[in-house]
Amino acid sequence: GSVSLLSAAGRRLEGKVALITGGASGIGECTARLFSKHGAKVVIADIQDDLGHSVCKELQANSTSAFVHCDVTKERDIENAVNMTVSKYGKLDIMFNNAGIIGVSKSNLLDIEKSEFEQVINVNLVGPFLGTKHAARVMIPARQGSIISTASVCSTIGGVASHAYTSSKHGVVGLMRNSAVELGKFGIRVNSVSPYVVATPMARNFFKLDDDGVHGVYSNLKGKFLEAEDVADAVLYLGSDESKYVSGHNLLVDGGFTIV
Ligand code: NAD
Repeated sequence: GSVSLLSAAGRRLEGKVALITGGASGIGECTARLFSKHGAKVVIADIQDDLGHSVCKELQANSTSAFVHCDVTKERDIENAVNMTVSKYGKLDIMFNNAGIIGVSKSNLLDIEKSEFEQVINVNLVGPFLGTKHAARVMIPARQGSIISTASVCSTIGGVASHAYTSSKHGVVGLMRNSAVELGKFGIRVNSVSPYVVATPMARNFFKLDDDGVHGVYSNLKGKFLEAEDVADAVLYLGSDESKYVSGHNLLVDGGFTIV
């Protein structure tokens, strides 16, 4: 549905400018809506142009938003998305590297083609690298910013998803930690968010969402999946000044799935 602004006192991103890759669907779309509610100007970057434009149009009813076509595996696309954001809205405060794919589902090493492995790495890891690089390019002179990437529970454990997906998400956290070390002196925070299975188009296509649920330690979560809102709330925290001392952190949103 459409998004209306919260009252001024309740807005946690008032005046901030955010760029969200994979913002046309799922976690990215939900975060775009939540960021807008909280007063941010949101640029949605995605390869799904029609969906991206329609989400953007809904946001424009009550806040400021733009769509830019961006394939995160192409450096010139990322460069263009960042430059467009800064030229339109004057700055970039929050970069959300969220676009990702599950890719091949084959579980055996001997069955996976090199090209299939590379495709997942390109979107899920090279994408966040390019996003972090070009966000840093404009955030360093500004001496501030928050960069957030979507990892997964597969960033900390093995055996849940494919070799390619698990490798890419471990990589996202490695990139996040290294970038946090390098960019801290410029006032830039770098973090990641790691959800368990969320009921988005990606997961609905991949898992049977009706007969499963969060296998967390919280018994009240059993039989329920996370909603994209649960992840967006974590991203809102990492993007807002409330997390001003949080950097280099991989925030798990998994109901305790990975602690047992
Ligand atoms: P989704 O498919 O609903 O949304 C992903 C979006 O990314 C889509 O709009 C898609 O068009 C876009 N995208 C794909 N490739 C792209 C590219 N090359 N360039 C730009 N945009 C591209 O899926 P989602 O569940 O919202 O996934 C978002 C992120 O969350 C991904 O990084 C995913 O790995 C991660 N994640 C998802 C789950 C889950 O269960 N859904 C769990 C953990 C992590």
